[in-house]
Amino acid sequence: MSTGEIKRVIIIGAGQAGGETAQRLRQAGFDGDITLIGEEPAPPYQRPPLSKAYLKGEYDMDRLLLRPASVYAEENITLLTSLRAVWIDRANRRVRVEGGRELPYDVLVLATGAKPRKLPLVGADLDGVHLFRTAADADALRPRMVSGAKLVVVGAGYIGLEAAAVARQLGLDVTVIETAVRPLARVTSPEVAGFFLDEHTRQGVRFVLGGQPALIKGRDRVTGVALSDGADVPADIVIAGIGVTPEVALAQQCGLAVENGIVTNRQCLTSDPAIYAIGDCAARPIVHFDERVARLESVHNAVEGAKIVAAAITGGKPHVEEAPWFWSDQYDLKLQIAGLFQGYDHIVLRGVMADRAFAAFYYKGPKLIAVDAVNRPAEYLGAKMLIQTGRTVAPSELEDESRPMKEIVAAAR
Ligand code: NAP
Repeated sequence: MSTGEIKRVIIIGAGQAGGETAQRLRQAGFDGDITLIGEEPAPPYQRPPLSKAYLKGEYDMDRLLLRPASVYAEENITLLTSLRAVWIDRANRRVRVEGGRELPYDVLVLATGAKPRKLPLVGADLDGVHLFRTAADADALRPRMVSGAKLVVVGAGYIGLEAAAVARQLGLDVTVIETAVRPLARVTSPEVAGFFLDEHTRQGVRFVLGGQPALIKGRDRVTGVALSDGADVPADIVIAGIGVTPEVALAQQCGLAVENGIVTNRQCLTSDPAIYAIGDCAARPIVHFDERVARLESVHNAVEGAKIVAAAITGGKPHVEEAPWFWSDQYDLKLQIAGLFQGYDHIVLRGVMADRAFAAFYYKGPKLIAVDAVNRPAEYLGAKMLIQTGRTVAPSELEDESRPMKEIVAAAR
């Protein structure tokens, strides 16, 4: 179907990726029907503050919304909330929603996101055991985050460590249990993970690394977590931050290619030319990383998908992709990450960790592939620009703190 013939776009999933797609379609001049279907009751909102300012009580729901709720009607976007899409009929280009109603589309965008893994343990359904993905999850947790309460966090990824930081700031007693031997194993190097481990320990968080939770204890309410070595960790609240699985059930049901996520090409097109997939549920070739097919769980990736799809549907200028980036706030530390560190063979440090402001640059051979910058925005921005443009600099230049980052980047080839 040529771009001019597209009159009806349905977007399944009203998270950041879905919400941005609707907005960007209108901005690009698409004047056909847009229907945005979301399971949650709220209009599209940002998830990152949930485990940071929102959990701390500094943000309310209005502040989380991507755009005010009234905008959807103003822009003639049909926003269907608290509704599940249950079936895709590819042959007739129709989506069935709960209750049986069928909606026709010319183009479908799957932005179904991911769901948090539930602890695979007896007791995981006890009151006081929380998953952490949605505003409702955060709302359920917030009143329990009171000074003196005993919190056990299972999983030392971003969710686990951000929640631990907020909890310590609110005066809770915090233990983090992680099956790996270090925190943040999926997302950073042992060196940077060690820095965050030290910081959390200094702030009073206890860690059980290499710990295997075996049972969530309690009758009606959680009272603790038993470990496989026989140890017991008492708990009033347990947060499971053990990763997510992509929401691919609809895609599988209608026979789209699915591996670790719905497989797409660089244009976010699935194996069906009328269906795109974007955000946490999709895996696509990443242009700055030799077209490696990756499923990136990030705001940046959600927004990139929306931009790519809006341009493709409206026949606009193809979006020039940005290098992947991520961030995490813990205490007064702002971690900013650009690129993908997997496969690095050496690290170059600029600054010293003890100063709580440093950047770790990751190289693969002579090529700079990623940076973790802690309280060093210039280093983050500079490295991101280098990765984006495929340029690199010699490690010795980055180690030389007497030269400003901007100057180093400007001279890079
Ligand atoms: P994550 O980054 O995948 O971390 C989960 C951690 O839990 C991993 O270290 C994992 O180890 C460990 N784990 C897995 N099963 C376990 C078990 N049974 N017991 C103990 N530990 C276990 O995921 P997350 O922190 O839950 O975050 C969920 C999603 O939210 C991700 O998409 C994340 O990117 C996103 N998020 C991002 C930010 C941010 O960017 N700042 C903040 C919050 C959330 P293995 O890897 O060895 O399984």
